[in-house]
Amino acid sequence: MVVHVINDVTLTLLEGNIVAVEADAIVNAANAGLAGGGGVDGAIHRAGGPEIMAACAKIGGCPTGSAVATTAGRLHAKYVFHAVGPIYDGRPEDARLLASAYQACLDLAEQHQIKSIAFPSLSTGVYGYPLDLAAPIALRVVIDHITKPTSLHTVTFVLFGKTSFAAYERALKTLAE
Ligand code: ADP
Repeated sequence: MVVHVINDVTLTLLEGNIVAVEADAIVNAANAGLAGGGGVDGAIHRAGGPEIMAACAKIGGCPTGSAVATTAGRLHAKYVFHAVGPIYDGRPEDARLLASAYQACLDLAEQHQIKSIAFPSLSTGVYGYPLDLAAPIALRVVIDHITKPTSLHTVTFVLFGKTSFAAYERALKTLAE
């Protein structure tokens, strides 16, 4: 675990499973149809129960680079923020859309005035975004956000496996220097 404090906001990198984490909002790596899938999406719907999918179906979809809030069902959270990162294609547009998906979650956090949020590493699974490119983008957006006034006290990245954790650790070291 790595803990870094910026402006009284605790930024934590944690290796683990996001469904085991307690936070006001848990972020899901969703697809544009909010249709459910494998990876973190499957884990969240399995652990949270059918209420989350019912809420997603009602909303119907979410454009890439954006996010929507639903109930968290049985998860230890008030909300799930379903964020849609880009499918990696090597275009400059990818970085903008990835940053925008994280920013959309931070904007929802302010709208709902929540104190804690847990992110997975968006787009770095099935969507193929290289971890060493995605990690600095994710951390930069969060660090810039918590440098300004915010309702958030705690932001946690829950990294699934040693490789993801190490990539975020390296990126944070570089950004925090
Ligand atoms: P995407 O389609 O956005 O790439 P994935 O769910 O396939 O989404 O992968 C995103 C990241 O989430 C990957 O780094 C993957 O290792 C990670 N991941 C998968 N399951 C979990 C989980 N239960 N908790 C946290 N992270 C997870």
